[in-house]
Amino acid sequence: MGGDEPDRFDAFILGYCDAVKAGLRERWNKYRPEIYNNETSEAIGGLAARQATLAIEIATNPGIWNGHIAPLILRCMTDTHITLAWILGAPLERSREYIRFGLGQEKLFLEYLENEADEAPADEPDERIEKMIEVRKSWLDSQLMEWAIEVNVGSWSGKSTREMAAEAGCEGLYKFAYVPFSGPTHSMWQHVGVYNVIHCENPLHKNHRIPVVPDLRTDPDFLYRSAKYVSRTYDLLSEKLKLQCELPLPVAFFVDNHPFGPANDETDD
Ligand SMILES: [Zn+2]
Repeated sequence: MGGDEPDRFDAFILGYCDAVKAGLRERWNKYRPEIYNNETSEAIGGLAARQATLAIEIATNPGIWNGHIAPLILRCMTDTHITLAWILGAPLERSREYIRFGLGQEKLFLEYLENEADEAPADEPDERIEKMIEVRKSWLDSQLMEWAIEVNVGSWSGKSTREMAAEAGCEGLYKFAYVPFSGPTHSMWQHVGVYNVIHCENPLHKNHRIPVVPDLRTDPDFLYRSAKYVSRTYDLLSEKLKLQCELPLPVAFFVDNHPFGPANDETDD
């Protein structure tokens, strides 16, 4: 990153975040959801805003542009994209399933909290848990009132992410982004074995591996990937919701304005 040009770097990050926000705002302003189908516009709008939030958070935190942390954000961005793409394949039905599942998860967590609160001694209630229950319960109740439906705690789409990605035309994203970023997200050996162990140099130790906490340099390629994912999400919204959008996509802003030197990534995902 342009350590010798902090102003140019800061201006780039600021401009990039503006491009992300403007892209969301433009789509939301042009979107004309069917009235009475609030769940569709709430699920779609919320997921698009989530994607924009992740793109902005990674951009404003260059300290995490490394192989330890950036993949956690990028994996979440691929998840967000696949979820949104799948919902857009049958918006009314699938946005309802998506919301219903989230409410079910919240209901389940509330039950755990209530059981925990019940176990506190009667003369010494845990006020922190009671307050948390109160706040979360009122959010859940307000949603349930709007819905007047039974909460189902089963699987929301009934499908694996791989199946959802295949049905929604995101197979490449699944294979070349979701899968590799899942290793670091779940701290699996394919990540840990590369990033957190090194060969011991003692020749008597039969080449075993020992733990290491490596300092990694900041790599703007992680921001570039994030720019591609949020742009892919914006393109998807324009296509599926038939929106004519004119502002440059975040990835175009990145390519035209970044201070990092020539890009070396030619892959499509
Ligand atoms: Zn050793």
